Amino acid sequence: MKTPFVTAAALQEITARYPTPFHLYNAQGIRATARRLQAAFAWNPGFREFFAVKALPNPYILRLLRAEGCGVDCSSYAELLLARACGFSGEDIMFSSNQTPAEDYRLASELGALINLDDITHIDFLADMAGLPDTLSCRYNPGDSFSIHNAVMDTPAQAKYGFTRAQLTDGYERLLRRGVQNFGLHAFLASNTNAEDYYPVLAGLLFETAVQLHRETGARIDFINLSGGVGIPYEPNQTPIDIMAVGEGVRRAYERVLTPAGLGDVRIFTELGRYITGPHGCLVTRAIHRKHIHKEYIGVDACTVDLMRPAMYGAYHHITVAGKEAAPQDHVYDVVGGLCENNDKLAVDRPLPQIDTGDLLIIHDTGAHGHAMGYNYNAKLRHAELLLEADGSVRLIRRAETPKDYFATLDFATEFDLPR
Ligand SMILES: *Cc1c(COP(=O)(O)O)cnc(C)c1O
Repeated sequence: MKTPFVTAAALQEITARYPTPFHLYNAQGIRATARRLQAAFAWNPGFREFFAVKALPNPYILRLLRAEGCGVDCSSYAELLLARACGFSGEDIMFSSNQTPAEDYRLASELGALINLDDITHIDFLADMAGLPDTLSCRYNPGDSFSIHNAVMDTPAQAKYGFTRAQLTDGYERLLRRGVQNFGLHAFLASNTNAEDYYPVLAGLLFETAVQLHRETGARIDFINLSGGVGIPYEPNQTPIDIMAVGEGVRRAYERVLTPAGLGDVRIFTELGRYITGPHGCLVTRAIHRKHIHKEYIGVDACTVDLMRPAMYGAYHHITVAGKEAAPQDHVYDVVGGLCENNDKLAVDRPLPQIDTGDLLIIHDTGAHGHAMGYNYNAKLRHAELLLEADGSVRLIRRAETPKDYFATLDFATEFDLPR
């Protein structure tokens, strides 16, 4: 069973003020999750979570996380600007980008961000474009496939990211020669994994690699960045990961590998996105049509531009029909949006209670990579984001787009009669 964080009665009130569709986020849930993560890594005095901005790039959310002591992980120019606008500066900002434009490096350098290089050629590129800072991190790609207890999690050999093992040694040596003093090491080897061993196994690999790099090059290892990838239970039969057990698993790897090598002061960093905000958001949409042809369809006022994951990855997002939580799930529907694309299906062959037009559907777990992945195909406008506070109050934290926003990038075209 999955229970929404908002009741049907509360939703009635919210939708009386704000038209559907919208993403709604639960401030208290996000705070509690950030605190739980910090508790799980409290054994490491230098621990810090750098929230992956791309998962939920809303300044209200970023400020909330800043108040919880989190930094931010950015990967583009505008994400850096967003971080700056929310009061993050210097080592509050991790810059983990790839195929990085020069101006992005210049801004990251101006802000004093911790820069995580994706490729060995970026050493010269960064040096030429912005100069090398005292502290730099490198992203590792071990190649082959990445397994946990013989289960293949992903195939880094096919991934575009990172340095090979040989390039790490070469890269650290080159950086040392050019005056870099402190080093970080980063890897991201599996996405949305519910394996409790993911971080501990990844940490073991990074810790051993860091010890080798330290021995080979003499580099001072300042931090190890476990990046993102910790999953959430999208499906009702899944259970949330035990983050305390994850933190404990990483601690054991730390004591086994780093401490005996004299690296007992290394800081542990994470760049989680989905884990922090994913479960604490939902997409609220209204059924506007019922269609009976070869299958049963429910047409809703949201579509794939509001939530791309089902169309893009075949991802499951649970749906609750507000006010029908206890009704028998004796209908099977495709829940669809209005794009002229047949993959615009938020759910396929989904057992649900009978849905009538006007019903509110709560699409779960859209707090990360939901609104953020939105786009304007079919000239669909992107919708609002709302924040539910612990006291039940709701505030608009991003307004819905209007046609004027759609035309804003055409405002040079005076020959057209466009709205201004
Ligand atoms: C996407 C991404 C993250 C966050 O991933 P989640 O799956 O949301 O935890 C962290 N770091 C980097 C470099 C990423 O690309």
